[in-house]
Parts: sequence; C-alpha cells; structure tokens
Amino acid sequence: MPAEIIDGTAIAKQIREEIKDRVDGLVRDHGVRPGLGVVLVGEDPASRSYVSMKEKACEKAGIYSVEVHIPADTPQQTIMDQVRAYAEDGKIHGILVQLPLPDHVNEREVLLCVPPEKDADGFHPLLVGELWTQGVAPFMPCTPYGALELLKRSGVPLVGARAVIVGRSNIVGKPMGALLLKEHCTVTFCHSRTKDLPGVCREADILVAAIGRAQMITADYIRPGATVIDVGINRTDDGRLVGDVDFESAKEVAGKITPVPGGVGPMTITMLLYNTVNAAARKAGVL
Ligand code: NDP
Repeated sequence: MPAEIIDGTAIAKQIREEIKDRVDGLVRDHGVRPGLGVVLVGEDPASRSYVSMKEKACEKAGIYSVEVHIPADTPQQTIMDQVRAYAEDGKIHGILVQLPLPDHVNEREVLLCVPPEKDADGFHPLLVGELWTQGVAPFMPCTPYGALELLKRSGVPLVGARAVIVGRSNIVGKPMGALLLKEHCTVTFCHSRTKDLPGVCREADILVAAIGRAQMITADYIRPGATVIDVGINRTDDGRLVGDVDFESAKEVAGKITPVPGGVGPMTITMLLYNTVNAAARKAGVL
C-alpha cells in the first residue's frame, strides 16, 4: 500500500492561521506587533527569493518585517553594524541574517552579533547549548523544528522510536537529533563516513534525510512502514525540484512520507514566524 503523504503545505497553513490569531491577540491585548528584521547581502537569486517569501509570509500573518539589502562587496563591519542596529531596535523581535554570506565575510562573527534573545534562526551558540542541555531553547532552528511539528501533527509515535538522521550539519542534522532525543526517540546520526548506510537506515522507524544529494535515499534504505522525512531541496538538470529521497520508490515502502516540494519546505518559514511571535510574546511578558 502506498505511503500516506504528510502534507507540509496544509500543516504549514494551519500553523500560520494559529500564528495570525496570536499576532492579532498580541496587538489587541498588549499593543505589541511582532517584528522581524532581515539582512540580505548580495544578489544570490535563491536568497532573494527566500527573503521575498519570508516577507510575504510576515505580511499575511500581520508581522512587521523590514529588510536591509546590502551589496555583496560591503565590508563585514558594515554588515555587523546593521545587525547591531536591529538588536537595539525595539520594534524588531527576531533577526534573520540570510545565509550564505559572501566569501570575504566571516559568517560566524556576523551571526555572533545577533543577540540570543533575538536570534530567530536559533543558531547562536548559547541557544544551541540550551537545546542540547535543556532539550528546548527560546528559539529552535526552523527547519528541524518544522520537521518535528510535521511528525507530531501527523500522529507519528515518537517515544521509544528508532530515529535515523542522515546528515550532521549544524543547521539541520544535529538540531534534528537534539529535538528527537528530547521526544525520547533513540537517535542515530549518519554521515558521509557511515558504514553500511542502507542497513543503518533500515533500522529506522523515523528516517530523516538531510544530505543535499538528489534522490539518494531509495526504497532499499527504508524499513516497510517507516516514516520518511525528506529535508533535501535539490534542483535537477531539467529544472525540477527534488528531495534527497527518491519519492517514487520510497512511497511504495514507507508508511508515511513528506513530498518535495510541499513537505518540510513550507514549514521552515512557518517556524521562523512562530519564533518571531514567541519572542514578541516574551517581550510582552505573556510567554
Ligand atoms: P550540509 O551539506 O551542511 O550537510 C550534508 C550532510 O549530509 C553532511 O553531514 C554530510 O556528511 C552528509 N552526506 C553528504 N553526502 C553523504 C553521503 N553520500 N552519505 C551519507 N551522508 C552524506 O547540508 P544541510 O544540512 O545544510 O542541508 C541538507 C539538505 O537539506 C540540502 O538538500 C538542503 O538544500 C536542504 N535544506 C532544506 C531546508 C528546508 O527549508 N527544507 C533548509 C535547509 C537545508 P559529512 O558531515 O560527513 O560531510
């Protein structure tokens, strides 16, 4: 029987409606409108497109958003000054520095200018530490947080489940593991040096692919009935968007599966909005 499709678009829409209700409540009852400050450096088309999607999503949810677009050859100091300006701006509750930054810029130094209490992406080392020690941080990294929300809202049992994550990046793989550990999964991380990757993946009740290799995870990596979360976003030579999972073969074996597009993707921006609203609620003293 083909897998049940986890509809990320529908779940994201539902969460965005919940977010809009919270925004309306914060404005009405506390006079606080959540605000997101975005720094975009350079002309990378994918980054520009993400930023424009984020702005539209903010507008729909009633979140104030402001973007500073800086030329690619801007000195690092100027970029850091812009981040610091958002840090001091009372209308801004969440700051997002769109990555990647140009080669001459030290990404880590720029990201460290984002104060943890406004780090909407949840990348600050202090937040990462909180996530691993407490299992929860004031801001959670948006993509894995969104993937977790998909699992929860699809009724996938988490306690005691074997979760295998392919990918150990700081943005997706590692925080995904921290979140699933907090939910009492038994977590295994895989990477490019993992031996017998298909065999390890077949042990998973929940298999998360965050690799960056188009359609690498085929049916033979999947235990029948397992839940497959495909974080990957890859563009094929003929211009199609595909995940790290070979959806057509995988859906014949998996119990539940996220498609690409329409799976994890819509959740990332949704959780960015969610993080921003939480920050505003904390500022208003209601969280
Ligand atoms: P990275 O390149 O930072 O990490 C990729 C990971 O995959 C690494 O840990 C790497 O291992 C591992 N890997 C690479 N090749 C193999 C292999 N052959 N076998 C096993 N493991 C392998 O990528 P990201 O984590 O940033 O992104 C992963 C994917 O998720 C990409 O497709 C990206 O586009 C997508 N993405 C989607 C988002 C969304 O909103 N849906 C947001 C962010 C990312 P090693 O550490 O050993 O090198």
